[in-house]
Amino acid sequence: MSFLAHRTLAASKGLGRIAAKSAPAANRLFSQSAPAKSISFELSEDQQAYQELSRKFTREHIIPVAKHHDETMEYPWEVIKKAHELGLVNTHIPEKYGGPGLGLMECSLITEELAFGCTGIQTAIEANGLAEAPLIVAGNDQQMAKYLGRMTEEPLVASYGVTEPGAGSDVANISTRAEKRGDKWVINGTKMWITNGGHANWYFVLAKTNPNERPHKALSGFIVDGDAPGVIRGKKEINMGQRCSDTRMITFEEVEVPEENLLGKPGDGFKIAMGAFDITRPLVASGAVGLAQRALHEAAIYAKERKTMGTPIINHQAVAFMLADMQMAVEASRNLVWKACWAKDQGMRNSFYASMAKCTASRAAVSNADQAVQIYGGLGFNSESAVEKLYRDAKIFELYEGTSQIQRLIISRMLADLYNA
Ligand SMILES: Cc1cc2nc3c(=O)[nH]c(=O)nc-3n(C[C@H](O)[C@H](O)[C@H](O)COP(=O)(O)OP(=O)(O)OC[C@H]3O[C@@H](n4cnc5c(N)ncnc54)[C@H](O)[C@@H]3O)c2cc1C
Repeated sequence: MSFLAHRTLAASKGLGRIAAKSAPAANRLFSQSAPAKSISFELSEDQQAYQELSRKFTREHIIPVAKHHDETMEYPWEVIKKAHELGLVNTHIPEKYGGPGLGLMECSLITEELAFGCTGIQTAIEANGLAEAPLIVAGNDQQMAKYLGRMTEEPLVASYGVTEPGAGSDVANISTRAEKRGDKWVINGTKMWITNGGHANWYFVLAKTNPNERPHKALSGFIVDGDAPGVIRGKKEINMGQRCSDTRMITFEEVEVPEENLLGKPGDGFKIAMGAFDITRPLVASGAVGLAQRALHEAAIYAKERKTMGTPIINHQAVAFMLADMQMAVEASRNLVWKACWAKDQGMRNSFYASMAKCTASRAAVSNADQAVQIYGGLGFNSESAVEKLYRDAKIFELYEGTSQIQRLIISRMLADLYNA
């Protein structure tokens, strides 16, 4: 079922704010021994096929080039092109616009596998999903046909432009302005840390259209063509990890945008930009799970090979317990990701689970990478080891698409509604 269909389903059923709210009803059913709707962790045949396809792709096309892209910071165009051919990019674009229209659950299986190979490459691929999500949330038929359609026809990339030098977590406080002049909007301002920024065919741009309104009504979302006069792409930023992912400052100087490129109505921008995260945060979390799993995989193999005091280090309880913690972190995060995806695929609002999944999985990635380096000993600190890159790559998961503090803010705000005397 496509995301469009999910939206329709959610609207027609008027489904509740967060999936967790239905839990008490489920408990009552259980206590009355009524036939409860079963849950399953078993993947369908289609889901297994997507997982296998992306696992094979990662093994053949990502793992062999990951080190090269990390060292050179070269943008992974050749990988993106091959992934595009196989349908592993833009996976959530509805069928009507040429995409496979996969559910979030299927997208998450693919993302986890790609991330196992290299989260720099996976982020370059995933950033398309982030740019496309506002269109899926609020685009009209023409906008989706034009801008999503072209993404499926050729291997293009797009960017989501919200963060600015002066405002990241504080989205409502952005200063990029869009003014209506005649039948056009004119955008002025600077966006920062924009993934795929140097290569984007188009940008989703959040700008202030009515500074006199309350912050959450003051912003609007636009689609801006990458070749529009006045779009200035800054230099590629040199980051700690995920180094082949392209992150840039993008400046908009008197950029004219036709009225037809406004998403929704003026003032809808904040809602649209945040709504996109319900789709993308579970997928960022899947990327973190992929990295956490890779760290565990490498550490467990090494712990079986490396001997000290006459025995493989996996036989030292201190090491074995680190591996046990890593396994638990992977499983717990993956289950939260799947729940966040399931809720969305059922047409429910999933922000609560999306934030929990993102926060938990990103911690798992950072912690597993840290423990993997610990298990490798001195070798873990060296760039020739399999885990040094994971350590550098992991940290960003706790920062982009909302820091872990912001995820906790979102979760904690929902608790007041959830618990009543
Ligand atoms: C590699 C990379 C790629 C990125 N890609 C994109 C992209 O494609 N598009 C895009 O728009 N942005 C992107 N970002 C930006 C990213 O989303 C922001 O960096 C992030 O949201 C944090 O904003 P900030 O850097 O301004 O930090 P700040 O908001 O200044 O936060 C600084 C610290 O204060 C904490 N903090 C802030 N407010 C609160 C609060 N209310 N309560 C508790 N703690 C708080 C934060 O958690 C953080 O620890 C990217 C960033 C990086 C580094």
